[in-house]
Amino acid sequence: MRILVIEDEIKTAEYLHQGLTENGYIVDCTNNGADGLHLAQQQAYDLVILDVNLPQVDGWGVLEQLRTHSNTRIMMLTARGRLADKVKGLDLGADDYLVKPFEFPELLARVRTLLRRSEHSLAPETLKVADLELDRGRHRAYRGSRRIDLTAKEFALLHLLMRHNGEVLSRTQIISLVWDMNFDCDTNVVEVSIRRLRAKIDDPFDNKLIHTLRGVGYVLEPRE
Ligand code: CA
Repeated sequence: MRILVIEDEIKTAEYLHQGLTENGYIVDCTNNGADGLHLAQQQAYDLVILDVNLPQVDGWGVLEQLRTHSNTRIMMLTARGRLADKVKGLDLGADDYLVKPFEFPELLARVRTLLRRSEHSLAPETLKVADLELDRGRHRAYRGSRRIDLTAKEFALLHLLMRHNGEVLSRTQIISLVWDMNFDCDTNVVEVSIRRLRAKIDDPFDNKLIHTLRGVGYVLEPRE
């Protein structure tokens, strides 16, 4: 799940980036509306967290433009708790509205609710390739009846490979889809993560599912 945070207050942006990343989301941050709109056109985000008071194009302007070409979930953040602002935000197509200062657990609960709403309409709860099953709700995998617990990154990586079952993904593609944009582009991290994932979902089993294509990338598929 990828989230875009458009917020010009560095402290709040860092706080959101850290908290959401710790909770398994991939988070890109930008401090102005123009860059935010640009990013939202380049990348598919599951949620945009949008501050109302931004320099140049403010949050309302960003919201209006985003809504012309995307139905991504949008949560507005504002220092003002006025009812009129809330109504305006919802009228312009925001999905939720949170007043600053807020407690992180409240933001997280709202983020989860919004994402759950869009998940239900977009994707199945479990993905299956051969005897490998991925339970999206519980961040857990199964091979046959054996349960495999995954870290947030392992889950994101396996989810990506399973969604693209049979397609080769390059290391650069994997980085751009599983790590956030500020991540230092060291493709070694992909190899290390793939190795850890294999140790859990392939090494103990005869039927290997993750395959390396030297110099190209990785593919997940049954080959028996
Ligand atoms: Ca602001």
